[in-house]
Amino acid sequence: MTIQSFNPPRRILMGPGPSDIAPQVLQALSRPTVGHLDPLFIQMMDEVKQLLQYAFQTDNDFTIAVSAPGSAGMEACFVNLIEPGDKVIVCRNGVFGERMRENVIRAGGIAVVVDDNWGEAVCLDKVESALKAHPDTKILAFVHAETSTGARSDAEALGKLAKQHGALTIVDAVTSLAGIPLKVDEWQLDAVYSGSQKCLSCVPGLSPVTFSPLAIEKILARRSPVQSWFLDQSLVLGYWSGKGKRSYHHTAPVNSLYALHESLIMLNNEGLENAWKRHQEVHNKLKLGLEDLGFEFVVKADVRLPQLNTVFIPQGIDDAKIRGHLLNHYNLEIGAGLGSFAGKAWRIGIMGYGARNENVSLCVKALEEVMAQ
Ligand SMILES: *Cc1c(COP(=O)(O)O)cnc(C)c1O
Repeated sequence: MTIQSFNPPRRILMGPGPSDIAPQVLQALSRPTVGHLDPLFIQMMDEVKQLLQYAFQTDNDFTIAVSAPGSAGMEACFVNLIEPGDKVIVCRNGVFGERMRENVIRAGGIAVVVDDNWGEAVCLDKVESALKAHPDTKILAFVHAETSTGARSDAEALGKLAKQHGALTIVDAVTSLAGIPLKVDEWQLDAVYSGSQKCLSCVPGLSPVTFSPLAIEKILARRSPVQSWFLDQSLVLGYWSGKGKRSYHHTAPVNSLYALHESLIMLNNEGLENAWKRHQEVHNKLKLGLEDLGFEFVVKADVRLPQLNTVFIPQGIDDAKIRGHLLNHYNLEIGAGLGSFAGKAWRIGIMGYGARNENVSLCVKALEEVMAQ
């Protein structure tokens, strides 16, 4: 066989994730592997928890990284919080809202769907009407930052509505965490999940989650066991909150957690507010550049995500050809449209370490050159 080591080129990742990774995070990944019950590793895991609490702005004791990508964090929230027969209002304004609905059904819940147009925020009035029409609702589920469209929904107001009607919330913060304000405790959100590879700029494969005391209470009061063994958080609890003493549940992805630790230190050193501000400022620069080239944004300015920019593909432009050219000649990846935006829009991500002026300059210049040909 002549198969050789895989040596990928250094791409500039400006799609919907994974995002650019800082050199020091990649270095952390390659440090010597220790056992996942090694006292030194457990100390590091305690720091990961503290750093995640900061990133989520929460004091929730149950704040951990699920050992799998964002979709597993999503599933962990749904399978733990939903018992068969529970009614869940699901807000659907893009791909990830639809995935939430599928999770509800598979967990045996009853899904009440509140639909909004792709590219728009979740409509608060519609959600309030649904909560009134379904007073037995146990959970309100919504996506804070819809990566399929680039729209931001008002997580604070949705959290408040849920509380007014006695419902818990499940919130998809995969793309919002560290990119735009997210305040889990202040906004009284109950089960919130994210991903390592978006605005945290870590390697893919970890999903930070946090559960409020109310969410834990609902989990502990379950009449039926969680049907997934791996994602049953009552079993994982023994590993993460053993107060220095840990028991084996599954082998933690040790080196990936080094990388997460490092990327969270970077966030902590920069400061959350500064990170939010940087995403906004870099977005402003990208917006000017794209509009100069004649691009039109899909999402209205007041609910537009700075970290995920969805623009219509101009008439007569070959979607796949341009993206292929950017990748092969500029080492630059931008995202294709997803779902009903496939072939109609591009998604340009400026997430985490990728939210830098030099990336914006390169992207705008490359698009200009490639489209001129
Ligand atoms: C990326 C993403 C997910 C899924 O995360 P994976 O790590 O790809 O499993 C879920 N929700 C949103 C909003 C996302 O952007």
